[in-house]
Amino acid sequence: MQPITKSSKLANVCYDIRGPVLDRAREMEEEGHHIIKLNIGNPASFGFEAPEEILQDVIRNLSAASGYCDSKGLFAARKAIMHYTQEKHIPNVQMDDIYIGNGVSELIMLAMQALLENNDEVLIPAPDYPLWTAAVSLAGGTARHYICDEQSDWFPDLDDIRAKITPHTRAIVIINPNNPTGALYPVDLLLEIIEIARQYHLIIYADEIYDKILYDQAIHTSIASLADDILFVTFNGLSKNYRAAGFRSGWIVVSGDKQRAQDYIAGLNMLASMRLCANVPAQFGIQTALGGYQSIYDLTLPTGRLKRQRDLAWQLLTDIPGVSCFRPQSALYLFPRLDPKIYPIQDDEKFVLDMLLEEKVLVVQGTGFNWPCQDHFRVVFLPNSDDLAEAIGRVAHFLERYRKR
Ligand code: PLP
Repeated sequence: MQPITKSSKLANVCYDIRGPVLDRAREMEEEGHHIIKLNIGNPASFGFEAPEEILQDVIRNLSAASGYCDSKGLFAARKAIMHYTQEKHIPNVQMDDIYIGNGVSELIMLAMQALLENNDEVLIPAPDYPLWTAAVSLAGGTARHYICDEQSDWFPDLDDIRAKITPHTRAIVIINPNNPTGALYPVDLLLEIIEIARQYHLIIYADEIYDKILYDQAIHTSIASLADDILFVTFNGLSKNYRAAGFRSGWIVVSGDKQRAQDYIAGLNMLASMRLCANVPAQFGIQTALGGYQSIYDLTLPTGRLKRQRDLAWQLLTDIPGVSCFRPQSALYLFPRLDPKIYPIQDDEKFVLDMLLEEKVLVVQGTGFNWPCQDHFRVVFLPNSDDLAEAIGRVAHFLERYRKR
């Protein structure tokens, strides 16, 4: 009998954050090992609870939430999102321009499915949040990676972006604040990206899911607030700013040159309708989340838990010989570099697997973020200070042995 095979559409689809190394970690846990996990940005599993008022709102409305809602989402939730876009100075957003989905993840896939013909190209940062690359491939497109430059605070290399534009290029993705680097883009850089999009008639997809997780008084600017003559699709949600990743609640806001994009918008509407609607109970939390007191700021203040953990993890990692790291201005991650002269890594997936087997610490290899060299890995600084110190101590032991090999 013929074997049952997966679709060839999956040939270039890859998502290493939950890949084979995680499978091995699960097996080890089943064998009774305790693994310290620095691999997934899931705040709730490290004691960062979702704000109580959001939970209460969802619970209170549960009995009204068992039916489907409008494909784009509940009116009150979208109204609150519209108000948020006004706070962020994104011009001319109407209720119809807002789509609520089952997390940003679903909406990334939906936005790419609605756009791409086979062989269309999308510019995606390297390193990236790999779902972007996977979603482009799954939709039949080709991800063309532009380099973000570690020497320049991990900002996108504009010359590399220009060099990678071809007649097939449809769009540019920016992840700001950035996962995995923690970079935050200044206004002048955003304006230059807009200029490129303007010149080559590209859509800008802006993944801003970490826009409130900012350190050292950093300020986030939504790129969509800086122009109205190109099409922007801005992504955000409850998973990170509100520590409610399990609710699977995110949204997109379409803004700018909607006139030119009417056909694409019809495609978005069609796909949003086909999946009926997003999880309704979680949508009842959106209005409460976006209004009033924002507890995330307590966590990112100088005395806040996230800020203290960022500082600790950064210090401990950069104390290790041959390890350097940009000090993140935002988000939940560090993306340290291993000096290739000291750590001549041939296969970084094997490198992190060896670290897991020998030290019971789980990190993600840099190539899992479509980084082109075997010299980085990503660490999540969500575990509490004691666990972080223990975990990074184990990383240091592993690297010490690696240097002597
Ligand atoms: N975008 C980025 C940059 C992320 O880091 C993540 C999750 O880690 C997502 C999107 C997925 O978000 P959601 O939980 O809303 O699907």
